[in-house]
Amino acid sequence: MDDSKKKILVVEDEKSISDIIKFNLEKEGFMVYTSYDGEDALVKQVSHDPDLILLDVMLPKLDGFTVCKKVREKSNVPIIMLTAKEEEVDKVLGLELGADDYMTKPFGMRELLARIKANIRRASLTLGPDIDQAQSNIRDFGNLTIDLNRYEIRKNGEILELTLREFELLRYLAEHENKVFSREQLLEEVWGYEYYGDIRTVDVTVRRLREKLEDDSSNPRYIMTKRGIGYYFRRP
Ligand code: CA
Repeated sequence: MDDSKKKILVVEDEKSISDIIKFNLEKEGFMVYTSYDGEDALVKQVSHDPDLILLDVMLPKLDGFTVCKKVREKSNVPIIMLTAKEEEVDKVLGLELGADDYMTKPFGMRELLARIKANIRRASLTLGPDIDQAQSNIRDFGNLTIDLNRYEIRKNGEILELTLREFELLRYLAEHENKVFSREQLLEEVWGYEYYGDIRTVDVTVRRLREKLEDDSSNPRYIMTKRGIGYYFRRP
């Protein structure tokens, strides 16, 4: 076995779909583990420590929403939810699940592969070993400190409990202080998609980030909305 292979855990109870995903991912050089119910998925997440999880919503024993929440209690592994209906998409976007992304069935394999690669690349950029300049990896933004080594953001000295994507979004905006980005630009820069993303993902992540970051999320002082354009960061 090649140790450098990225590991994907595919959690999908429909065997025909699982098989075709596994076949295509292996062809692309991924190491694939499969799970057919939510409880088994939690066990395999711990035992195989995958680089990414593809997680179906409707599953026996534990549904994908519950699995996602439980994984998030302990891990920042990228999670792409596989949804079958628009109601499930709304739920993925609306709940505090901490999923990084979602795809609606039926989806094409090329799109799935693009999403998987974008999510893994993004995660490895953040978590990667490129941390030899300890000093320059701590950035100060008034009462916010972004520590790229520990990948922590502190506000007035208190660590904010952020998901990987929330961290990345805040870091990106803060590093380009006062510059306004469109949702499409943020999707491309922070999520790493060129064509496939849904801009609602950006709005939802901004909303969650504000709830954690701002004193009053309905009256933000860090992440500002530029009406009709997008978002920017400023120091209060
Ligand atoms: Ca299912």
